[in-house]
Amino acid sequence: MCLHYGQTLIILYLPKVPETEDRPLWRRMRFFKCRALGEYGMRRSPSELREKSMQKIRFGKTELMVSKVALGGIPIMRISKTDAAELVRGTIGMGINFIDTAHVYSDSEEKIGEGIKGMRRDDLVIASKSPADDKKTFNEHLDLSLKRLGVDYIDIYQLHNIGSEQRRDAVFAPGGAYEGLTEAVKAGKVRFPAFSSHSLPISLELVKCGRFDAVQFPFNYIDNAAEAELIPLAKKLDIGFIAMKPLGGGLLDNAGLSFRYLLQFNSIIPDPGVEKIGEIREIADIVTKNPALTENDKREIEKLRAEFGPSWCHRCDYCQPCPQGIAISSVLGARSMMRRFSPERFRSMIGPAMEKAKTCRTCGVCVSRCPYHLEIPRLLKENLSNWDGQTKAG
Ligand code: SF4
Ligand code: SF4
Repeated sequence: MCLHYGQTLIILYLPKVPETEDRPLWRRMRFFKCRALGEYGMRRSPSELREKSMQKIRFGKTELMVSKVALGGIPIMRISKTDAAELVRGTIGMGINFIDTAHVYSDSEEKIGEGIKGMRRDDLVIASKSPADDKKTFNEHLDLSLKRLGVDYIDIYQLHNIGSEQRRDAVFAPGGAYEGLTEAVKAGKVRFPAFSSHSLPISLELVKCGRFDAVQFPFNYIDNAAEAELIPLAKKLDIGFIAMKPLGGGLLDNAGLSFRYLLQFNSIIPDPGVEKIGEIREIADIVTKNPALTENDKREIEKLRAEFGPSWCHRCDYCQPCPQGIAISSVLGARSMMRRFSPERFRSMIGPAMEKAKTCRTCGVCVSRCPYHLEIPRLLKENLSNWDGQTKAG
């Protein structure tokens, strides 16, 4: 069928499909168009997509070419398998080829596996993580990650959250998780060894040690401890840097401001966790346009730092050990977790820490150790009252 609109000749190909099926023909055609674009619900022409194509950059010494933004795998735990698969496919359709998840994110790996089913494996860069200390558990986690994701290898496998000297010593001990990781690289199950952490001194040490090809560390305009030393060091040593919590774990709701700040750093890959296609589309559009940080933005950031700073926990755990055994950073991070995890998962993960927090004796030992001078006992109390409200409501 040919239609003339002004000077434009439009050719429509109408397949001979009877109108008597469940859905009308126009609806099925739009579905096929969206599938072909790889973007469910996106109304863009292929030329527009080419124009707005996502830039890829070299991910340090791995030589992997990755999109300037990745998809984080936490929030998809909250949505259905079908929605998660559509989100993953739609994200990849926007030119985002890097997806990061973890063994501990409940069914996240499985949902991502469903989303990437049938795609060319070498078009994708998949990252996951294991919290294991020992080799045996590490191997179990890795095999399960491979099975859930439905892949033969994982590009970047991270030792999850090496946040303390004890954990660092455990993973590097004979028979530790690092041994498992190096063997997995030799066996071809993992391409590049990596780690994640919230501790700046440990991250600096591990980036320097030469055993890892990539690091994941929190980074956003409030949580900017990596800016001065860690990001430049990783760049100098050609280690890939994944910016964890680029939107502050859901607490920073101005994606434009967040990404204008992050885009100043050309060697990092932010991995925002999202649960809606519109959210990742907004981010992809910002990243593609690559806007500069303005003077107004800088003033806004200063204002927000002053506002959030007194209550923003950086999860560094310098305040530990608490004599009462309170997991301070977990309790102070409860609001962010609540936004990202399903209510059941959130309750099971944080419930015991919340109960324990009720035993705080306000001794102040933690306050004297916190480099950010947080009023920890007061913040524990606030988070506890918020938790009690949530539990009653739920
Ligand atoms: S309370 Fe302070 S020391 Fe403890 S984890 Fe948070 S920022 Fe770090
Ligand atoms: S003030 Fe509370 S949280 Fe801090 S060290 Fe003392 S008991 Fe632990």
